[in-house]
Amino acid sequence: MRFDEFAEIAEGVESLSGDKDKTEEVAALLNEADEDIRVAARFVQGRVFPAWDDRKLNVGPSLLYEAVALAGDTTAERVEERVAEVGDVGEVVRELDFGGQQTFGATAETLSDMYETFESLAAKEGEGSQETKVRELGNLFMNTSGRGAKYLARLVLGEMRLGVGEGTVRDAVVSAFGTDPELVERGIMVTNDTGSVAEVARDGGDDGLTSLEMSVGRPVKPMLAQATTVENAFDDLGADEAVVQTKYDGARVQIHTGSGETRLFSRSLEDLTDSLPDVVETVEEAVAEDADFILDAEVVAVGDGGPLPFQEILRRLRRKYRIEEMRDEVNLELYVFDVLYEGDGAVIDEPLHERHERVAEAVDEEAVARTAYVEDTDGMRREENAALDSGHEGLVVKNPESTYSPGRRGKNWLKLKPEPETLDLVVTGGEWGEGRRASLVGSYLLGVRGEDGYETVGKVATGLTDERLEELTERFVGGDDGLVVSEDGKEIEFQPSVVFEVGYEEIQRSPVYSSGYALRFPRFLSVRDDKSVEDADTVERIERLYENDD
Ligand code: AMP
Repeated sequence: MRFDEFAEIAEGVESLSGDKDKTEEVAALLNEADEDIRVAARFVQGRVFPAWDDRKLNVGPSLLYEAVALAGDTTAERVEERVAEVGDVGEVVRELDFGGQQTFGATAETLSDMYETFESLAAKEGEGSQETKVRELGNLFMNTSGRGAKYLARLVLGEMRLGVGEGTVRDAVVSAFGTDPELVERGIMVTNDTGSVAEVARDGGDDGLTSLEMSVGRPVKPMLAQATTVENAFDDLGADEAVVQTKYDGARVQIHTGSGETRLFSRSLEDLTDSLPDVVETVEEAVAEDADFILDAEVVAVGDGGPLPFQEILRRLRRKYRIEEMRDEVNLELYVFDVLYEGDGAVIDEPLHERHERVAEAVDEEAVARTAYVEDTDGMRREENAALDSGHEGLVVKNPESTYSPGRRGKNWLKLKPEPETLDLVVTGGEWGEGRRASLVGSYLLGVRGEDGYETVGKVATGLTDERLEELTERFVGGDDGLVVSEDGKEIEFQPSVVFEVGYEEIQRSPVYSSGYALRFPRFLSVRDDKSVEDADTVERIERLYENDD
């Protein structure tokens, strides 16, 4: 398929707004792409290489502008100015007059020709590579029509703007070739490449799709977790028994090992192998050598006193220089928590408890994530406390019967992060309610102890029942021993003497309150009559909690 034919279809897809219509247009593209179907399925999503392949073109806007300037009679500065005016490099490039457009009208550049040039661009690095890239890319523009140039420019920068993602291509494959949707979905999960799935669906139908397999060395997308609380975990899982694993606060690594070679991939499927030689050694010591494996794991930075904050590990990842030096400075531990492939095939369709047995068999105990089975909330809380006591982040709770779904975030994996600690705050003011609550103080201004006096951090109204409001109104404004200092319209200032325990979602910076911070979603928990205002929290504590929030 010629690139300008592709561009014509792309323009059609872009002009449609409904998902169904887009899917049908992409299905037509797949039907017409012939031997270029793999490339077409990727280009239409704005990607050049398969999802598992971490090669990059490394062409930024300025290099692209130079290539465009070289091909069309203009300057990079002028292109940049026009992009600033128009807001889309594609439209700017389309306006330009390239040589090819005048000479041939349409060009013979096919998707595969284009792909070959992209491969060559991705392989270029080092001295002089920029100039060569500008020349090669300039040549592509010279051989492209206006519409083709528009989509070429967008593709190179990875912004196709067609509204087509992996899901659209998946549905388009089903529609174009009449294959089983579940097999298409599974094919994408195991190969991590919509291009080859489209080709196999067309040429081999359902049988072809069934025979697609994961392969060691080619990363798949990691399964993800949803957030929940201990109270809701069993309901969310829809199970009577839960697998609970320590949630290690580090970096996700997908380990591909076998036949004497080990490679490590990040959560976003970048190859991390070279930056983590110590982890490679750990894998080679701790993992059985009699089979090939794909394992899911977390790598954590550790110091003498236990796990170190997540930021420490960032100093090790993707490092190109001083790798050995940093290896001594930031020590890493590995915790394997799942297996995706063993021997000669994927094991993702087995239930989790069986996959765990495989992990326990294949990996030395000290490199396996702490795993337990619990049947009630108390058991889960005990495990959570044990994880927190060892300095880890909390728990991941999993359904023991669940399969491994690459790239999916569902209810089979749940992450429990501890609730932020509650605060003890001094009530420094209040506000009369409205309507039904006009005779009650409906919200309370909260403060922390500062250097001289109290600084405010927010107001609380949530969590207060009518009954509680009556009781509090009586206490703050009633009778002779009320705490009212002054009143201004609906606002009342109280003498600081009562402490509220308050929960919240997070602490934010805020110009509104005198402490400089505000609580997000504060909620009343209790009156701490056992505490005096001297026991209340301080501005420093708020600052510390804010700094440690992630
Ligand atoms: P989050 O990054 O907050 O979405 O939490 C999920 C992440 O927790 C995963 O992507 C892993 O990197 C990490 N993690 C740590 N321990 C585990 C575990 N035992 N099981 C699954 N994920 C884990």
